[in-house]
Amino acid sequence: MALEIRKYGAEVLRKKAQDVKEVTLDIKKLAEEMIEKCHQDYGVGLAAPQVGKSIRLFVLSLPPEDDMESSDYEKFFEEVFINPIIKNKKGKEKNEEGCLSIPGVYEMVERSKYLDIEYTDINGEKKEIKNAAGLLARAIQHENDHLDGILFVDRLPMMKKEFLKKKLIKRFRNSEDF
Ligand code: ZN
Repeated sequence: MALEIRKYGAEVLRKKAQDVKEVTLDIKKLAEEMIEKCHQDYGVGLAAPQVGKSIRLFVLSLPPEDDMESSDYEKFFEEVFINPIIKNKKGKEKNEEGCLSIPGVYEMVERSKYLDIEYTDINGEKKEIKNAAGLLARAIQHENDHLDGILFVDRLPMMKKEFLKKKLIKRFRNSEDF
């Protein structure tokens, strides 16, 4: 069964997601399908709430930094992050972000430049990435926000945010998620 991306306005995108208790076969299958969905929709990451599951899991599918247009997935950094905890955020950096749940919208978002992350991987093993930077650090923060019901447009400066919100509500009001 193909996964369906929930769009802006869907309630599940605003909920705080629950911890994953155990990495079951269903969880593994979900994670695989989510990575597949990233390939299909040219996404660098996807969080479980975006496919209607309110659990603390996201996947990343990052192209090599020296070949961002690549579709050779062998060269991608692909990982499943379960019950992630971000630590030691450092520095600030602005860059453009988009989101499969808010198609067509791209905005500059300020994020921490560096961070560490602890998580459980798809095999149920504890892992840690230290000093993540660049696209990796940005994607981790974007996807982790989804687990707390936060969208990247919430991170914009107040004026911009209010302006965009009106447009988004109008635009997504008639989507099947409302
Ligand atoms: Zn997103």
